[in-house]
Amino acid sequence: MAVLGNPKNTIEILQKYEFHFQKKFGQNFLIDVHVLDKIIRAAEITKTDFVLEIGPGIGTMTQYLCENAGKVMAVEIDDSLIPILKDTLSEYNNVSVIHGDILKLDLNRLVEEENNGKPIKVVANLPYYITTPIIMELFEKHVPIESITIMVQKEVALRMAAQPGNKDYGALSLAVQYYSEPYLVANVPPNCFMPRPKIGSAVIKLTRFKEPPVKVKDEELLFRIIRASFNQRRKTLVNGLRNSSDLSFDKEQIIAAISKLNKPDTVRGEAFTLQEFAEFTDYLAKEI
Ligand code: SAM
Repeated sequence: MAVLGNPKNTIEILQKYEFHFQKKFGQNFLIDVHVLDKIIRAAEITKTDFVLEIGPGIGTMTQYLCENAGKVMAVEIDDSLIPILKDTLSEYNNVSVIHGDILKLDLNRLVEEENNGKPIKVVANLPYYITTPIIMELFEKHVPIESITIMVQKEVALRMAAQPGNKDYGALSLAVQYYSEPYLVANVPPNCFMPRPKIGSAVIKLTRFKEPPVKVKDEELLFRIIRASFNQRRKTLVNGLRNSSDLSFDKEQIIAAISKLNKPDTVRGEAFTLQEFAEFTDYLAKEI
C-alpha cells in the first residue's frame, strides 16, 4: 500500500472507492507530508505510546501513527471510509478501527480496557464542526490523557492559547488552560488539504496538567461563572452574571466578591486571570 500523504496517492484511493466527501462530517483530508511529520514530531510519539486518532479519514495520518506508536485506535464515523481504512491500513497489526461517533463512546472504559487505564496520547486532524465538544469531553470526563495534538481552525487555536487582555481570550481559553498547557505548533494553509477549507488551520498541542494550576472548591461552579462572564462580551462582569439564567447571585453579592479581588465593579470578565476566576468563584460559593 502506497503512503498516502500526497495528492496523487490520495486521489487514487478516492477514485478506487468512488468516495464522495461529506461536508456534514467536516472532511478535509491532509495531503502534505511535511505537515504530517510536524504533527507526529510535536506529539512525540514513541513505540511505548497508545494513540487515539479521532477521524482517520482514509488513514493518511493513521499510517504515520502506526509506524511510530505502539498501538493506535482510530475512531471514524463515516461508513464509507471503513472499507477504505481496511485497505490502507492492511499492512499494520498495531491498529484497531472503531466505527462510531467519538462523542458517543465511553472513552474512559476504552482506555481502561485497551491501555489498562494508563494515559494515552490523542492525535487528530479534527472535524471542525465539533472541535470544542470533543476537547471538552476529553477534559471534563477526565479521560486519562498525556497530550492532545490536533489540527483545528487557526482562530480556535488562537482562542485556546490566548491570555487575559487579548481579543481572543474567553471561556475556551480558560477551560483549555485549566486542564492543559497549550503550545502552538504550526500554521497550516488551506492548500495542505483536500478539499481546501475556506479558512486557515493550525496545529496545537495541549499537554495535560497532572493537577490544575489553580485550586477551586467547586469546579463546576467555576465553569458556569466563566461561561456566564463571556456570554455577553461587552457587558461588565456584574451585568453578565446578573443576566445569566444559569446563576442566581444578586448584584450586591457579585460586587462584594469583585471588591475582595481589589477590582472595580465595572470590571469585565476578559480582565480576570484563571487564578482570579478561581478566587472569585470561592467567594461566591460561600453565598450559596
Ligand atoms: N485524519 C484525516 C486526514 O487528516 O486526512 C481526516 C481528517 S477530516 C478533517 C475529519 C475526519 O473526522 C473525517 O474522516 C470525518 O469523517 C471524521 N468525523 C467527523 N465527525 C466524527 C465523529 N463525530 N466521530 C468520529 N469521526 C468523525
